[in-house]
Amino acid sequence: MHDDRDLVEARLKRVLDERIRPAIYPESVPLEISVWHAPGEPVPVAEGLAATPGPIAVGDPWGPPWSTSWFTVTGTVPREWSGKIVEAILDLGFDPGKVGFQCEGLVYRPDGTPVKSLNPRTPWVRIGSPAGGGEEVRLHIEAASNPVILDYHPFLPTQLGDKETAGSDPLYRLGRMELAVFDKTVWELVMDLEVLGELMLELPADSGRRHEILRAVNRALDAVDLQDVGGSAEAARAELTGVLSSPSVPSAHRVTAVGHAHIDSAWLWPLRETVRKVARTASNMTALLEDEPDFVFAMSQAQQWAWIKEHRPEVWAKVTKAVAAGRFVPTGGMWVESDTNMPGSEAMARQFVHGKRFFIDEFGVDNEEVWLPDTFGFAAGLPQIIKAAGAKRLLTQKISWSQTNTFPHHTFLWEGIDGTRVFTHFPPVDSYNCSMTGHELAHAARNFKDKGVARHSLAPTGYGDGGGGTTREMVAKAARVRDLEGSPQVEWNTPDHFFAAAEAEYPNPPVWVGELYLELHRATLTSQAKTKQGNRRSEALLREAELWAATAAVRAGAEYPYQALDRIWKTVLLHQFHDILPGSSIAWVHREARRTYELVAEELNAIIDGAQRALAGDAAGAASGGTLVFNGAPHARGGVPAGGAAPAVTGAGTRARSREGGGYVLADDRLQVEIDGRGLVVSAVDRRSGRETVPEGRPANLLQLHPDFPNKWDAWDVDEFYRNTGTDLTDADEVRLDADAVVVRRSFGDSSVTQRLTLVSGRLEIETEVDWHEREKFLKLAFPLDVRADRYASESQFGHVFRATHTNTSWEAAKFEACNHRFVHLEEPGWGVALVNDSTYGHDVTRDVDAAGTTTTLRASLLRAPRFPDPETDQGVHRFRHALVPGATIGDAVREGWFINQPERRVPGGVEVAPLVRVDDDAVVVSAVKLADDGSGDVIVRFHESTGGRAATTLRAGFPVAEVVTTDLLERPTGEPQRPGDAIPVTLRPFELVTLRIKRA
Ligand SMILES: [Zn+2]
Repeated sequence: MHDDRDLVEARLKRVLDERIRPAIYPESVPLEISVWHAPGEPVPVAEGLAATPGPIAVGDPWGPPWSTSWFTVTGTVPREWSGKIVEAILDLGFDPGKVGFQCEGLVYRPDGTPVKSLNPRTPWVRIGSPAGGGEEVRLHIEAASNPVILDYHPFLPTQLGDKETAGSDPLYRLGRMELAVFDKTVWELVMDLEVLGELMLELPADSGRRHEILRAVNRALDAVDLQDVGGSAEAARAELTGVLSSPSVPSAHRVTAVGHAHIDSAWLWPLRETVRKVARTASNMTALLEDEPDFVFAMSQAQQWAWIKEHRPEVWAKVTKAVAAGRFVPTGGMWVESDTNMPGSEAMARQFVHGKRFFIDEFGVDNEEVWLPDTFGFAAGLPQIIKAAGAKRLLTQKISWSQTNTFPHHTFLWEGIDGTRVFTHFPPVDSYNCSMTGHELAHAARNFKDKGVARHSLAPTGYGDGGGGTTREMVAKAARVRDLEGSPQVEWNTPDHFFAAAEAEYPNPPVWVGELYLELHRATLTSQAKTKQGNRRSEALLREAELWAATAAVRAGAEYPYQALDRIWKTVLLHQFHDILPGSSIAWVHREARRTYELVAEELNAIIDGAQRALAGDAAGAASGGTLVFNGAPHARGGVPAGGAAPAVTGAGTRARSREGGGYVLADDRLQVEIDGRGLVVSAVDRRSGRETVPEGRPANLLQLHPDFPNKWDAWDVDEFYRNTGTDLTDADEVRLDADAVVVRRSFGDSSVTQRLTLVSGRLEIETEVDWHEREKFLKLAFPLDVRADRYASESQFGHVFRATHTNTSWEAAKFEACNHRFVHLEEPGWGVALVNDSTYGHDVTRDVDAAGTTTTLRASLLRAPRFPDPETDQGVHRFRHALVPGATIGDAVREGWFINQPERRVPGGVEVAPLVRVDDDAVVVSAVKLADDGSGDVIVRFHESTGGRAATTLRAGFPVAEVVTTDLLERPTGEPQRPGDAIPVTLRPFELVTLRIKRA
């Protein structure tokens, strides 16, 4: 037989595009349209419905960037359409080439009931099914003129990302606004032909099945009367029944389709728009659930649920009804789908506390899966936190975005720093926006690395970010591939159901140990420095606020600010969303974030201040001239116990003198540092060991400036080639002594830097103030170190991870920029160095060999200046603090990291404050002291082993103890209550995390 594959495939495409799809709506009549353009920000629904609209017509422009227009459409269903399915087609001016990321609408009835959303691929509303004819139609559309930021020419700088710079030109032209007859048979024919056409293309060209489908498709096209598609659709469908009823083979891959819409909590739109995006998509999905009995939809991010509850009660009513039916499913257990590299230990824990608690309180749902499809890499501390939150499974697909290495598994056990393992699935469909095409399904089956031992994978199915979620077309296609020869089998179900099936079929999956590093988006550790600093500061302030407020409540009977802390935590957690903290959002989002962090700091400082004054005694104490030092860090400092307060004492001073050959020498009893005439650190001698830290001829505190223009994803990516060129900023405008500090000023490009170098208790502190006006540059602060080390430690949640200093394999080479929390540490046996910071996360570590041997260079990433999506990223003044700690053990690194982030506070007063809890082993770090969230007054203490070793110690409570019980992160008991008195024995394995609930006597 002659091979006519190409001919038939091309025929199918043209006939579908030009004849069959247009015949889905064979008849239509125009709707009357009017509009009210809301001035400024969005208004409540009632206000939009009550406004008096003015005229507008199809084709007219509407919608300046970020504005809202309320359209009213009215019409009458023609009498002759009686018995037919009628829909309103409401095209706001969509670009159907993009599934979301543009204008959107939510349709309301005149009484304010939400109907469904309008999105590029779902611009319809069902009117009558069937219609009686003669019905009066009146609908209202709340339409958001959200600009397209990520365009067909992506990553070009744009002013559209902030309403303050976006201008006022309308962005859209109103499209078709009509009542139309929906021909269901033609639509079903389109679904048949799409499923078969797409499946056919995925099958081997020499397979019999492919040719069977080809012949059937050709017969169906023969049966279509091109002048009367509606009248011939049934006959065309009949030609396809045979190939559509042939069942799949027993070894077919099984896909659990989960209806989903990945909605970024802020990104190319501000937070306030996400509130509406979520309401639109949720309305769309409750409507689809009513139409499609097999369909299941899952929504993550408790914050987004809370937004619906707070802002759109009419949508919430529909959602909660669908939840009760088990079909609109809360998935995951975090407040938002956060970044997991940068959030600190407690914040990462609280993501789960607040996320899980919302689902438990609202729905009694305590999920065991963690849903993070789009997060930019996964810190190795996460498995322990997941387990401590009462979960045990993780889903992400993001590692498929890695540029260099292909991850070897799709289903596996992920082992974290303490040995905790969580069952992890990477959907092999490699997408969180699956649209149920034959290609996606075939890719999932082909790509699945665990075939032979496992058969199940999950496909998050639906358009996110303004796409409206799953479409009826996806549901129709899934129904056809439920059991179809040549295709994976597809069924709708919940994430929980998928995981149970996947675990059951795969009892001994392979194990991956350590972080799940994303080999992409590495610059998210640096972009938008003030957002990152705001996060770090807020985390530190929250710790202090809880600690001092709990201490004041127990000791002085002060009121504990439960509600304020709950609210502030949720604000900080929201801003850890995977496009806010990473710095990849538009200017508007980061402008608001900076302001929010200022307000958070104000409020937390007021809480801390109030608690400390309550503890420090009355004015009489202050009148005596006493000053109390409060130490909020988890280690004793300068004679003040951790979590306590004591009178201030003056420490040993620093000696400063001029250096021969220019510059200055700073010395205290532990460290002697030489700063040359260029302001560079040329020597740092640990006086206890006599060991030099800085290699000969390779000065430290060296600022290095690199060109930084990645191939794409400007705010997200730094590409490896940035290192090929760069400038050492060695020219100083000024190097002078100011009291005990050496002050260095430099200028470069349009920018300038002032540094202040001081010695404090054996560490070299460096305050760097940068007035930054560069474009597409990367600023690093380099510390060449005379240390030979094959690996180094970076602090992560509740511990640290090791990474190689070499690039033996592509996996190691790919980690050329990585995340630290408060410290990076490296050592030779018996001697090490730490670099601690107060707000930077990105860093890189490399090794060199010169005449003296192997040295290691550690560089902190300070600033970038990408121009997309925020064209003004990081312009302005920034302040960073770093400290170099020669002679540091890993324990010293942990402690110094805390100290630089948790400064002492001085308060007038004379009453020493004993800590609420004391631990006599520095390796055991208390990360949280607070009152229980249930308002019982119980004291919650969370601590962990921080060095990677074992600890056996005693935790002493500074108050009478009735009972102690171990709990999970949500403060729910996990063991039997004990009565050890106020001395609680503690034994910990490496990095083990423990939470105790202590009932006061
Ligand atoms: Zn995302």
